[in-house]
Amino acid sequence: MTGLDLVPARHRALFIDGEWRPAQSGAVFPVHDPADESVLVELPDADATDARAALDAAAAAQPGWTASAPRERGELLRAAYEAVVAQSDEFAHLISLEMGKPLAEAKGEVAYGAEFFRWFAEEAPRIQGRWLAAPGGGSRLLTIRKPVGPCLLITPWNFPLAMATRKVGAALAAGCTMVVKPAELTPLTTLAVTGIFERIGLPAGVLNVITTTKAPEVSAALMADRRLRKVSFTGSTPVGKILVGQSAGELQRMSMELGGNAPFIVFEDADLDAAVDGAMVAKMRNMGEACTAANRFFVHASVADRFAQLMADRMGMLVVGRGQEPGTQVGPLIDARAVASVSALVDGAVAQGATVVTGGKAMTGPGFFYPPTVLLGAPPDAEITNREIFGPVASISTFTTEAEVVARANDTEFGLASYVYTADLARTLRMAEALDFGMVGINTGLVSNPAAPFGGMKHSGFGREGGFEGIEEYLETTYVALPL
Ligand code: ADP
Repeated sequence: MTGLDLVPARHRALFIDGEWRPAQSGAVFPVHDPADESVLVELPDADATDARAALDAAAAAQPGWTASAPRERGELLRAAYEAVVAQSDEFAHLISLEMGKPLAEAKGEVAYGAEFFRWFAEEAPRIQGRWLAAPGGGSRLLTIRKPVGPCLLITPWNFPLAMATRKVGAALAAGCTMVVKPAELTPLTTLAVTGIFERIGLPAGVLNVITTTKAPEVSAALMADRRLRKVSFTGSTPVGKILVGQSAGELQRMSMELGGNAPFIVFEDADLDAAVDGAMVAKMRNMGEACTAANRFFVHASVADRFAQLMADRMGMLVVGRGQEPGTQVGPLIDARAVASVSALVDGAVAQGATVVTGGKAMTGPGFFYPPTVLLGAPPDAEITNREIFGPVASISTFTTEAEVVARANDTEFGLASYVYTADLARTLRMAEALDFGMVGINTGLVSNPAAPFGGMKHSGFGREGGFEGIEEYLETTYVALPL
């Protein structure tokens, strides 16, 4: 099984107005297997003309979808959830094939990603307004919630299923139509999900999918069009800033889920074995290619050597290989650029005095492999301390007081995930209040949950996905003044 059966030849196409189509220019681009660099398939390379056709379809479908019954939208999402779960193995193989992650992790992503459909299936019938007697009397104040309108949903390559389902699920539940632009490096899983929506009878034009290598051209064309009312983006902070700037013209609503620089803090009273278990998850999930990945380990000086040794032992034992091979625990990085970037961060840290405890040198190809690596003592001004590593490298430094570690953890332009290991309840609460991050994991290395509001602050963006907040991003409010 490779998972490619989920995307039969007919579906290696754009999906516009309920039809699978080539790009109007006829252009195509290859999708590669990151484990051996071979070409998996070719897909249409859409341009602005195709994008506008997709928005035409989304705009035409919007009134009908707005008028649909919440339960109808919920039942479609529930059917999509059931369909993804019924094909969990196939989805896991496809995710692993195009993105590189080990099969076991891909299965985890299928469970997580499908759950957004179930969650938003349940949210669709819960959309509600408000009725309020005006404080001064004499009138009633009503609020109505409405779908914001056609959306552009742009996803990254690191979680090919979950990044799409948490946007698509929320938008569908709210009653929005959409143009989805999956990452050009991993577009196949989105096409597989699209095939499911076609099969279960989602009305034509509600969900349109554009595969392209010309993201800037496509997003600029769509955002210049006043019919587009919202953009939800997950990706790098520099691209997020371009899109926020671009939104000024037509003032689209924006949700921005951008980069992170997560601190992972281990206090002297923490259960050290549990902290190492959590650290392995927070660091190594997705080979470190996650915006929630622990990026800076701050370990109390009294336990730092032991923590580093335990981490190095665990990291050094991991089996690196092709994600689809049974037994693989660490797959390839996404491309050559990713390997070069991780190598440069590690080399830079070493040049500034960090010690390599394990790993530290890129592996030879084919495939884009970098070994699990542990570094000790990278200085605060090293690039690795200030940039998202997006690779399997744990950089550990020490601290002595709570005030010091809070200041250092917050000393970043980012504010997405953070992690704290401690046995002290009062300290737990102090840390949750003091850390300037959208998410704080206490004695856990995993914060993602479809029922929780995922998102960040500062340069990690704004808006929340999942939880009760997720659907709000796709709803407008009309207030009705009603004198009695
Ligand atoms: P990464 O560096 O992790 O690939 P990016 O932010 O470059 O992250 O990519 C995330 C998503 O944003 C991808 O779908 C990519 O195609 C898209 N993208 C990149 N540049 C732009 C742009 N100028 N406008 C819109 N989307 C873009």
